[in-house]
Amino acid sequence: MQPETRAILATTHTDSEYGSIVTPLYQTSNFRFREPGHSTGYDYTRSGNPTRNTLEHVLADLEGGAGSVAVSTGMAAITTVLAHFKVGSHVIATHDCYGGTARLLKLLESQGKLEVSFVDLGNIVAVRSAIKPNTACLWIETPSNPLLRVVDVGALVKLAKVYGLLVAVDNTFMSPFFFRPFDFGADVIVHSTTKWLNGHSDVVSGAVVSRTPELAERFHWLANALGTTTGSFDSWLVLRGVKTLSVRMKQHAVNAQAVAEFLLSHPLVSEVYYPGLESDPSHEIAKSQFTGFGGIVSFRLTAGNIRDVLGATKIFSLAESLGGVESLIEHPATMSHASMTPELREAAGITENLIRLSIGIEHVDDLIADLDQALSAITVWEPAKEAAPC
Ligand SMILES: *Cc1c(COP(=O)(O)O)cnc(C)c1O
Repeated sequence: MQPETRAILATTHTDSEYGSIVTPLYQTSNFRFREPGHSTGYDYTRSGNPTRNTLEHVLADLEGGAGSVAVSTGMAAITTVLAHFKVGSHVIATHDCYGGTARLLKLLESQGKLEVSFVDLGNIVAVRSAIKPNTACLWIETPSNPLLRVVDVGALVKLAKVYGLLVAVDNTFMSPFFFRPFDFGADVIVHSTTKWLNGHSDVVSGAVVSRTPELAERFHWLANALGTTTGSFDSWLVLRGVKTLSVRMKQHAVNAQAVAEFLLSHPLVSEVYYPGLESDPSHEIAKSQFTGFGGIVSFRLTAGNIRDVLGATKIFSLAESLGGVESLIEHPATMSHASMTPELREAAGITENLIRLSIGIEHVDDLIADLDQALSAITVWEPAKEAAPC
């Protein structure tokens, strides 16, 4: 069966008691034992909850993994995976990974728990030379945020396997609808289900999905030990979101492609970053591993005050985060990436004139009209032709 069908079936036929169409919400912290030592299979919600379990089955199924554990946030997912490694292990991570991931890795490094190298994963030679005897993990995030650089996951996995590294992929940006890292040999996938998987901007949540039953059991165990598992109601909301993942992702991508093409043709826009554009440097590699190009578009202005645009949209809300049905506009330099030092931002290409969009599922004509009128709000100060004598 196709993913569209599986996402619906797996969230629908779950109630053996009364046959309710929607997965029941077991909003309970604990469960009655049948007799001492004999539970119903559930005893305490941190360790297991039927609503959360249904979500875990669905996420594992969509990614093609053996199992998953649903956790409280995307960062909880990353915390759970990093807790797997022995003290002193070396992690190689994407140099332009999510800011929260970089902050956590640096914390663990400063505490002497992990060694970390941030490497451009687009440069396979650099990755190979970063591998040391204590390297245990290759941490991949693709496409990158906010410039949407795509790396070759198949080639990276091949290299990592030579050295026995565990390959983790943060698949938040593509969602399993457009990218399935296990098909390329990854070991573990993390999600901020806050984003596309839930899709309605009303939950923060995450998941760790494992390729093998052994890893699935390990991360289940770790999530219970660390207390990172998520609650029933948030699981229930994400389950509702997952049912419409396929239709949402298709529309996000269609709209994003049209918005990217509009921006590319606009005289006040110098660069557009969207892997679906043929002119995008990541287009070929994206085409070879994704089944769609996602809903995030970034661009640079050639001139003018960026605040004129950021304050002028009527449909796009000025807000961080991404992946909801509503369109968002944000300024990475002062919002999502403000915690980076100016030097690191500069090195990552996050300049003052860069804007990131999360494209929603509104009508694309309205989205383009909104951006068009916002761009016309730019006041470009032309230097006077002849400088006045002073
Ligand atoms: C948002 C995000 C995270 C963190 O997820 P939270 O749910 O906010 O904790 C991790 N990775 C990526 C790529 C993200 O976009």
